[in-house]
Amino acid sequence: MNVQFIDFSEQYQTIKDEIEVGLKQVFEKGNFILGQEEKDFEDNFAKYCGVRYGVGVNSGTDALYLAMASLGIGPGDEVILPTFTFIATALCVSYTGAKPVFVDIEETTYNLDPKKVGKAITKNTKAIIPVHIYGQSADMDVIRNLAQKHGIKVAEDAAQAHGATYQGKKIGSLGDVACFSFYPTKSLGAFGDGGMIVTDNKEIFDRAMMLRDYGRTGRYEHKIKGYNSRLDTVQAVILSAKLKRLDSWNKMRNENARYYCELLKDLDGVIAPTIKDDRTHVFQTFAVRLKNRDQVCVGMKEKGIGVLIHYPIPLHLQEAYKELGYKKGDFPVAERIADEILSIPMYPHMTKKQIKHVCKTLEDLLY
Ligand SMILES: *Cc1c(COP(=O)(O)O)cnc(C)c1O
Repeated sequence: MNVQFIDFSEQYQTIKDEIEVGLKQVFEKGNFILGQEEKDFEDNFAKYCGVRYGVGVNSGTDALYLAMASLGIGPGDEVILPTFTFIATALCVSYTGAKPVFVDIEETTYNLDPKKVGKAITKNTKAIIPVHIYGQSADMDVIRNLAQKHGIKVAEDAAQAHGATYQGKKIGSLGDVACFSFYPTKSLGAFGDGGMIVTDNKEIFDRAMMLRDYGRTGRYEHKIKGYNSRLDTVQAVILSAKLKRLDSWNKMRNENARYYCELLKDLDGVIAPTIKDDRTHVFQTFAVRLKNRDQVCVGMKEKGIGVLIHYPIPLHLQEAYKELGYKKGDFPVAERIADEILSIPMYPHMTKKQIKHVCKTLEDLLY
């Protein structure tokens, strides 16, 4: 039996009819750019996150970049972020001319270690980007308190955590601004690229709205030098249909995760995810830790199980960031996790039989 890393074919069947009707309307109306369906989705997604404003953009990367630009971050500024994340979290800072400052992660949640943030703050620090890695919130209370004390902004990278909560509050409402990706493999994924900035701050919203649309204030009036980064109406139709079902899909992911954990707890040397009491995890990614990861990774693939490594190289050791002068050993927790972590199949419609087979294959490779 083969088990794909992600298989959304069954999920597609549940939204197929609704999408077909919605897309047909868009095709007939021809309102492809910033159509009503796109505005409706912005409103609904912002409401889902518990904030007032949503700005649909081209991708999660653009959401992060335009959020940085909306906060006024630029050359000479520093922005703190975890070294263990997807590179877009750092690229958005670099695009503005500011400097990314990496910080190590927690051993348990793999999120930004708030105890290590304080030491990284300088007089140039303008923002912190906590990443809710794999679908579980970072420790936002401590991060927010630090930010408040130093007068710096908090921009959530929520690209992996649509629908997760922290102390009863939705991800996306926990900082000054939050950024989502709708890349197809995310738990709320478009049929192409897409992203969104959400915020409760009217000034950030106004700036982001201008930045994504050529700096426009009128059809041919431009207040600032903006970009072309908008969410297509076609994608908004698909995302709207999926948003209605997101909570139930997240519940299915949680049930799968629970079954995984039940089976994995008997496997010596396999560390399953830790879920903190004050958070809900949405398991966009189900990652385990193993000592002989590379060998197991190859073995799983050979046996037809889709596995991936998120992420094999922390950002401070990426060639793209060599000018920052970090070296091996600077962030020992992130480096160790990068060597041990393995993402195994996870999607809402996985069956118990598939999960059992993944665990059995893993067991056979380990012992
Ligand atoms: C996917 C992802 C992004 C980038 O989103 P895109 O839509 O692919 O540009 C940024 N940060 C994190 C943590 C991600 O997982």
